[in-house]
Amino acid sequence: MDQEIIKLSPYAEEHRFSRFELIRWWDQNKLSRSRVMVIGAGALGNEILKNLALLGIGNIVVVDMDRIENSNLSRSVLFRESDCGRYKAEVAAERARDLYPKLKIKPLCVNAITDLGMGFFFWADLIIGGLDNREARLAINRNSFRAGKPWIDGAIEVLNGTLRVFQPPDGPCYECTMSEIDWQMLQARRACSLLNRDEMLSGKTPTTPTISSVIAGIQCQEALKILHGIESIGGKGYIFNGRNFDNYIVEFKRKTECYSHETFSPLKILDCNSNELKLSEMLKIAKSDLGEDAALEIKEDVLLGFNCTECGEKEQFFSSLAGVTEKNAICKKCGKIRIPEISHAFYGNENFVELPLRKLGIPPFDVISGRNGEKIQYYLLDGDRLEILESLDSELTIEQR
Ligand SMILES: [Zn+2]
Ligand SMILES: [Zn+2]
Repeated sequence: MDQEIIKLSPYAEEHRFSRFELIRWWDQNKLSRSRVMVIGAGALGNEILKNLALLGIGNIVVVDMDRIENSNLSRSVLFRESDCGRYKAEVAAERARDLYPKLKIKPLCVNAITDLGMGFFFWADLIIGGLDNREARLAINRNSFRAGKPWIDGAIEVLNGTLRVFQPPDGPCYECTMSEIDWQMLQARRACSLLNRDEMLSGKTPTTPTISSVIAGIQCQEALKILHGIESIGGKGYIFNGRNFDNYIVEFKRKTECYSHETFSPLKILDCNSNELKLSEMLKIAKSDLGEDAALEIKEDVLLGFNCTECGEKEQFFSSLAGVTEKNAICKKCGKIRIPEISHAFYGNENFVELPLRKLGIPPFDVISGRNGEKIQYYLLDGDRLEILESLDSELTIEQR
């Protein structure tokens, strides 16, 4: 490579997307302004991020709490052997930025169920899942519907794959598609133990890099359509059998008794930082809006402490459920496994009301609900936004329904 070519690189940048712009409906500016949250940076997530970077998507949040292992290398285009031991989300973000240097991308090395603030769902234009378990899908699905954002699910096994697109508020959701067997498998998983769930969640499904690139490719094509406002297969699924090339579209029906169609509206934007705002202060805000009997609710249970049924020892221990393991549950006095005390509702009579919300295990940039009987008000802890979104486009426009 000589100097001449290096000097020409700004010109090359300008024309980076020139082939796309030959497509009649293509709007590169739209893509460079768009915000996508990718949940999962494994086999599917790698392919999704690769595609989004090549397409010139401007803002991406990538969420994954796992670290890279040797067995990931056969299915992950963005990882190298020397990356083993590093966080998947961090490495994937770096490599995606190599592919498209103007990409603004933020890795979040957290549990997507318990430690991902609702604010990210309000921030994103759409959510793409590269997930390997039903529990995470269910949580992502509920939060996407709460924020009114479309989400694109992908699932792979051996040579087969499935794509599902869910578009709130009217269409069917992931929970609507769940069969009796799906629920049984989910319950079996939940029944094991509240602690150490992450180990159980890391499913060891056999997959190949070929099917992950097929399904991630289709997921990203659907993302392109949604970002451009072109009709996608919202509310439907695409089933691909890679062995005999059977492939077909399934149409999902919205179940009337489905619990996942709640929306977090009306939403009040609070210029409060969860590191500073105390539970008592949050309650005061809710009481002034909803009346003296208002209580607070959070979207996921947090751990408040452990009680030992053997020796009666009680310990306060505040954390999200992702932050606790079986080890934490061992009684320091008698060595028995203690019962975790968990909660997702606060009334003001707790002995920890003077703690800030973050200390209780509530993630940053989250939404807290205030409730008094039928009256309900949602609060976005917007004071966390600039700190947590860093270089990403951070302006927030929330449509109230
Ligand atoms: Zn549903
Ligand atoms: Zn004990």
